[in-house]
Order: sequence, then structure tokens, then C-alpha cells
Amino acid sequence: MSETTLTLNDGAAIPRLGFGVWRVEDAQAPDIVGAALAAGYRSIDTAAAYGNEAGVGRAIRESGLSRDAVFVTTKLWNDRHGYDSALRAFDESLARLGLDHVDLYLVHWPVPARDAYVETWRALIRLREEGRARSIGVSNFSVAHLERIVAETGVTPAVNQIELHPRFQQADLRRFHAGAGIATEAWSPLGRGALLDDPAIVAAARKHGRTPAQVVLRWHLDLGHVVIPKSANPERIRENFSVSDFALDEQDLTTIAALDRPDGRIGPDPETFG
Ligand code: NDP
Repeated sequence: MSETTLTLNDGAAIPRLGFGVWRVEDAQAPDIVGAALAAGYRSIDTAAAYGNEAGVGRAIRESGLSRDAVFVTTKLWNDRHGYDSALRAFDESLARLGLDHVDLYLVHWPVPARDAYVETWRALIRLREEGRARSIGVSNFSVAHLERIVAETGVTPAVNQIELHPRFQQADLRRFHAGAGIATEAWSPLGRGALLDDPAIVAAARKHGRTPAQVVLRWHLDLGHVVIPKSANPERIRENFSVSDFALDEQDLTTIAALDRPDGRIGPDPETFG
């Protein structure tokens, strides 16, 4: 296992520390994603719903990096569930990105009320067979959703991208992922910034001479998560990437484990969203 990448259950390698671009305007994406690529990030997490796939694609082309050097993730939005609809949505994402393949394609939310996520998953399986999505996965899926797609298609997602940060640690779901060979990717890994004022995080940061965000990202990496922090600020973009030269100790891990809260979720509930 390398320090910088994680090997997925299909053999592909995903960078452990990537860059999220939710709420980055399409027009600003070339500059902001360009700053991330210049800082050393080699994985970009976008989605059809973010409205910035075109700007992300442009940033990658303008970076001078080869296509193979950058791991690109995008996601299928909730109104495109269903087999044919998902295939068309994927083509539209590729066209906006200006790419001939993505490295990871995710079903963004399960949308249980529509009950079409199994057929949607079958479309992603086809895209992987065609090589246009090198790896396929899901996002915001519960244990029950994961068990169902695996039972009905025989294909286990490479990744489940879920809300995950010290105030919402999802221990049961992470345990299930570990047993099933599904990589855990943390969205809102910094709790959207809110938990960076937490006294326990601030104290750990002071002890190590690092920032609260760096402590939280180090915690994720130590637990084996893939993380995709977002920042639109060049200094914070660099700060968030600079987490490989210090280690948390047992005391830090115990203190951060105690920050988990039953009401710690900040995003929508996947059972009812969509
Ligand atoms: P994050 O936890 O990454 O936090 C981002 C917020 O924290 C921004 O307000 C940012 O402000 C601030 N911030 C970033 N770095 C620092 C720092 N070093 N110090 C202080 N503040 C900081 O939240 P996101 O919700 O953006 O999640 C990350 C990514 O996860 C998204 O961009 C998206 O790619 C993905 N995501 C996926 C979802 C899904 O359903 N699959 C749902 C939500 C997110 P500033 O920009 O001003 O630096």
C-alpha cells in the first residue's frame, strides 16, 4: 500500500488526498482547480450537479499534466436514474469534461423513493466494461443499498463516498465497507469548516504545530479514508495538501473518536433525499 494512493477492489489506484469542487463556479474552476493541480493534488472530485465539469476539464487540459496523471471523478445526478438515462447522462458529463473516460463514476445518491438505483448501477457496470469509466462506485449508499446492488448484480462498488468527519464518524458503515472491500471516501471531510474551532481539534493542532484542518485530514488518512477537501483559497489549498509530514498519537485518536455525535450529520439524509 503506497502512502499516496489506495488500491481499489478493481486494481485501480486512487489518490488518498484529492480536491473537491462543490460550490466552485464553473468560471472559476480553471483557476481554482489549476491552483490545486499546481499544489500537487492529482485527484479532482466533481459532479454533474456541481455545474463545473467544463471548467474542471479545462483546468486539467491547461495544467500541462498528462491525462493519466490526474484521477477524475464525476457523479450521476438524481434526476438521471434508470439504465438508458444514466448512460446518456454519462455521455453528457464526458462531453462537458472534454474527456474520453473518467477514472471514477459514482451514483451521487440512492434516491430510494424512486427505487431505480439497481438499474442505474447496471448502467455503470456497462460503462466500466466499455472502459469509459475506469472504476465505478456509489455515494451516500447505506448498508442495505449496498447489499442490494451487490446481490442483484454481483458487482461490488469500488468506492462509497459518504459524509464523514469527526462529528459524524459512521462506524457501522465503515466497518461494512472494510468487510466488503469497498473504499471509504469522505465528503465534507472538514465538516465544511465548522468543526475546525472545536477545542479538542485546536489543542491537537497546537501540540503538533499544525492547523486544525491539517489535523482533521491526517485523522482521515490514518483511518484509511480517501479525502477530498474543498477550498477556493490558494493558501488553504496548499495547507490541506501538506499533511504527510506529521503523525497523530494515540491520545489524539482517542480525543477525536470522542467527538462523534448522533446528530452530527450536516448534509441530507440519504434515505429521504432526492
Ligand atoms: P469540506 O469539509 O471540504 O469543507 C470546505 C469548507 O471548509 C469551505 O467552506 C472552505 O472554505 C473551508 N476550508 C477548507 N480548507 C480550510 C482550512 N484549511 N481552514 C479553514 N477552512 C477551510 O466541505 P465540502 O462540503 O466542500 O466537501 C468536500 C467535497 O466533497 C466537495 O467539494 C465535493 O467534491 C464532495 N461532496 C460530495 C457530496 C456527495 O453527496 N457525494 C456532498 C458534499 C460534498 P474556503 O473555500 O473559503 O477555503
